Amino acid sequence: MTSLVRRGILIVFEGTDGTGKSTQLQLLGHYLQDRGYSILTTREPTEGRYGQKIRSLYMDRKQYSREEELELFLADRREHVRQVLAPALEQGKVILCDRYFLSTVAYQGALGFDPEHILKLNRFAPDPDLALLFQVPLDTGLDRITSGRGDLLNDFEQRDNLARVAAIFGAIKRPYIRPIDAGGSIAEVHRLVIECVHSLLPVFSTGRV
Ligand code: ADP
Ligand code: MG
Repeated sequence: MTSLVRRGILIVFEGTDGTGKSTQLQLLGHYLQDRGYSILTTREPTEGRYGQKIRSLYMDRKQYSREEELELFLADRREHVRQVLAPALEQGKVILCDRYFLSTVAYQGALGFDPEHILKLNRFAPDPDLALLFQVPLDTGLDRITSGRGDLLNDFEQRDNLARVAAIFGAIKRPYIRPIDAGGSIAEVHRLVIECVHSLLPVFSTGRV
């Protein structure tokens, strides 16, 4: 995205299900808003036409081939970048995005695609300034999904699959990725998140705090 006039900041929340991404995104949003930042919170898959199709596949992944599934995630992201992320970055917003292209790398990588190939297919999407990679032991994540959320596991969340996904997340090397030990209490994890964000925000804070 070389044409993008980029004045904002993109912080993405990545990691397997049940690691606390959505919980921490809300907390960070309030924290930054209280300090005068103009925040946009968003998520992938989006609420758009492709995102809705992707949600329908959560319960029965077999209706699509892995190629079709990957194409749906890319189409959803193209729309998200064009309609939401690029304009907000131009406007100088701090964007908090719940899942982004590293999730595609890890989840579709777990289906057998080469992670580097998926990264290449995502070059149209602006790199995040910070990708918080939430990591917990597998059983903690599963326990938070089933008891915390009171749900059964969907097709993306089966144990073996989650282990493969977590391994791929952990192996991706990009300078903007910061692993977060998300096994502690919600308050403890919030403190770790704030530490990471503070190392980034002062650089961008001129005139906007
Ligand atoms: P994710 O978005 O990564 O799937 P959520 O934020 O939805 O994770 O959290 C999953 C469940 O675990 C929720 O019920 C949430 O309240 C709970 N939870 C989140 N963070 C923690 C934590 N640090 N300790 C204990 N439970 C947590
Ligand atoms: Mg979530």
